[in-house]
Amino acid sequence: MNKIILSALIIIMIAPFSLINAQGLLQEKYNFTRQDTLRGTITPEREWWDLTYYHLDIKVNPNEKFISGKNTIQYKVLSANQTMQIDLQAPLKITKVLDNDNELEVIHDGNAHFIKLNKLQNIGDINSIDVYYEGHPQEAKNAPWDGGFSWKKDTNGNHFVATSCQGLGASVWWPNKDHMYDEVDSMLISVNIPKGLSNISNGRLRSIEEHDDNTVTSHWFVNNPINNYGVNVNIGDYVHFSEIFDGEKGDLDLDYYVLRDNLEKAKVHFEDTPKMMEAFEHWIGPYPFYEDGFKLVEVPYLGMEHQSSITYGNKYMKGYLGRDVSGTGWGLKFDFIIIHEAGHEWFANNITYKDIADMWIHEGFTAYIESLFLEYHYGKKAGDEYVVGKGKVIKNDRPVIGYYNVNKEGSGDMYNKGAYMLHTLRQLIEDDEKWRQILRGLNKTFYHQTVTTKQIEDYLSKESKIDLTEFFNQYLRDIRIPTLEYEIKNNALKYRYVNIIENFDMPIKIEIDNEQKWLFPKEIWQTMNIKSDEIKVDVNFLVHATKL
Ligand SMILES: [Zn+2]
Repeated sequence: MNKIILSALIIIMIAPFSLINAQGLLQEKYNFTRQDTLRGTITPEREWWDLTYYHLDIKVNPNEKFISGKNTIQYKVLSANQTMQIDLQAPLKITKVLDNDNELEVIHDGNAHFIKLNKLQNIGDINSIDVYYEGHPQEAKNAPWDGGFSWKKDTNGNHFVATSCQGLGASVWWPNKDHMYDEVDSMLISVNIPKGLSNISNGRLRSIEEHDDNTVTSHWFVNNPINNYGVNVNIGDYVHFSEIFDGEKGDLDLDYYVLRDNLEKAKVHFEDTPKMMEAFEHWIGPYPFYEDGFKLVEVPYLGMEHQSSITYGNKYMKGYLGRDVSGTGWGLKFDFIIIHEAGHEWFANNITYKDIADMWIHEGFTAYIESLFLEYHYGKKAGDEYVVGKGKVIKNDRPVIGYYNVNKEGSGDMYNKGAYMLHTLRQLIEDDEKWRQILRGLNKTFYHQTVTTKQIEDYLSKESKIDLTEFFNQYLRDIRIPTLEYEIKNNALKYRYVNIIENFDMPIKIEIDNEQKWLFPKEIWQTMNIKSDEIKVDVNFLVHATKL
């Protein structure tokens, strides 16, 4: 890259409103490939059909680290087309694709596979194909972040196997339409494994079949829309216990699957689960998948928000593997993985991003609602301190929103900066009950939907009756934290904002003369008469302050 392009890139990266124009340059920086575009775009070969149902039917052989089987893909024809894009990542191979008994031609383009349909696809028809595949799936390098299959053993030497695939994509282990905008309405997951082990997937267990070849097949049915990366298989020497939660929509089954040796420990430690359910139903609305129940499933990695089967690997410790992520002490009041991953049932599984560039919708909200768990059980101060405490690790390295249509998420700041931003918005709304109704309203309005940042922004602006255009542009699309510059001289406070995008004028609360007051800084200097020689900016607002 030459110097001129590089400096142009820097200017554009910090310029607030040039993201669309910047896309090309930023893509150049990241070297996005044709494969990224095939993976991240709603291509014409995806757009014409709407997913209705999957039946994933596979055999998992842990001894050989080998999987084989098929996915039946049922879909509704939305517009005329005869070519369908299905994704499956190497080294797995599609062995054949059938429409009833007719084998179909497949043209392979890396991890994208274009299936030539023979039957005329009439608008409105519901059709299906069977995609057969097999191979040694990619092994997870650092699950769940760099996922795939984790082939582990428990301390008794039993197989302990799990999948994880957010970001990387579900096509790392099964063939599907690997784009988040489209979800099936329901799904059946059938998994054949060696006898003596159990497989726990999503939804409810329908039946277990025993076979003569020393294997068993479990059939799990998901009676709700589900995103691809939410689908999982977990295989191990599991034992089960359960309880019933008396929730907003009636009885909710809480089922727990843990390794045999951890049963007694889990029975005590998982007491956070009904406490979590109670706090979240109060603050963000009813659990979104009553029909499928709620499960916590022990896995050999940290955890993931697999829909209705939250996977758990926090080693039965409080905090994040025993650590307080907020540095305030409050983070050790609960098991981070139970609260965080289960929080994703509302923000990730119920309300799902259409494009991973908008992943803050999952992580920002979920990182925020951890504080609502604390607030519900320990009071408002606990929640406030926790979310502000987590703000210390914000990097401001890249914008929170990533790059559209190439399957590229934004900065890791999507968690804690996203949370702090929402906490700031709550201060602006200045009405906790209204804020609660807004959070509940989000989960009702976008119930079981895939969404864009724009939809969430528009909803929040409308419901709060505040135009939040600049607010979101500043925090999600720019890397700078607004900074209040001020000086106090001769009983006058002179103040202004720096590090802001054009027209950013968010009011903030300050303590001045021992009183809380709203201040309305803008880019231009303003003056206010005060008595004291110091002010304090309310830490619940994500702004910096510099005294000149
Ligand atoms: Zn998360």
